[in-house]
Amino acid sequence: MTVRLLDGREVAAHLRRDLTTRVERLGDAPPRLAIVRDGSSEAATMYAASLERAAGRIGLRSESIVADAGHTELVARLNADPSVAGIVVAWPFADADADRALVEHIDPAKDVDGATPTNAGRLARGEPAFVPATALSVIAMIEAFGIEVAGQRVVVVGRSAVVGRPVANLLLARDATVVICHRATRDLAAETRRAEVLVVAAGVPRLIGAEMVGRGAVVIDCGINAAEGRVVGDVDFDAVAPIAGAITPVPGGIGPVTPMMVLRQTVESAERIHSAAAANAGSVA
Ligand code: NDP
Repeated sequence: MTVRLLDGREVAAHLRRDLTTRVERLGDAPPRLAIVRDGSSEAATMYAASLERAAGRIGLRSESIVADAGHTELVARLNADPSVAGIVVAWPFADADADRALVEHIDPAKDVDGATPTNAGRLARGEPAFVPATALSVIAMIEAFGIEVAGQRVVVVGRSAVVGRPVANLLLARDATVVICHRATRDLAAETRRAEVLVVAAGVPRLIGAEMVGRGAVVIDCGINAAEGRVVGDVDFDAVAPIAGAITPVPGGIGPVTPMMVLRQTVESAERIHSAAAANAGSVA
């Protein structure tokens, strides 16, 4: 069987073109993306810079702000600023309490990485919500490649608030039969082998080997791990590819699509702000 390679770079390029057109339609000064980060974290600084570059490529303005003190005041100011469409807290944040306080104060309408408890609750209830970008990128890939999930047995490995749980909720909303696995799962291989679609977000390099995948399964690997001086996924790509029907590579699978999902949700927010301003101007005139 020839495995189908699910190329995230291709999907990201398509999304980039679409978002560029949508930003152009917003006029000269569309509302911007604010990225709040911990100044002491090199990883957060790099993530913020990559998000800024990605925003720039679709013509969206962005601003990376170091949150030193007065975190909640900063978020309150961004919430109230109509020229800000989206607020993202760049991970990691050294002080977990400060991170939580920041996130909890974000206006859910500007929470374009689906980090607030309000958006998590809405997603869990099956209501419209902003969603964590990595989880959303799994759905974007599924849709881009026409992968059927309704009625299918989908197994998600991982239950974190950023990937596993939201992806399971998104799949449930698309009528998949979802099984969520974690460290206490008694026989992980028995579960994953039965998956028609397998989504892995465990943070363990090459956790999923050939013996854990059913023939012809669709395998989506969210993992980004440094191992032996390179980036590898949570799936042993070389071992699993000959068995799977379709598989995402790492790098080049979910990774390139994730920033596009932050941007897509920012553009959605910007469009809402733009329409509200236009309606307001109309009612005043
Ligand atoms: P977390 O460490 O927060 O969660 C990992 C989850 O996997 C936990 O629920 C854990 O179970 C489960 N798990 C870990 N080991 C095993 C195991 N041996 N068997 C079964 N379940 C296991 O990680 P994240 O969700 O934040 O990230 C997951 C992966 O996705 C990482 O590789 C990360 O780098 C990547 N990632 C990729 C992004 C992207 O843009 N593509 C963005 C964010 C993350 P338990 O709950 O029981 O501890």
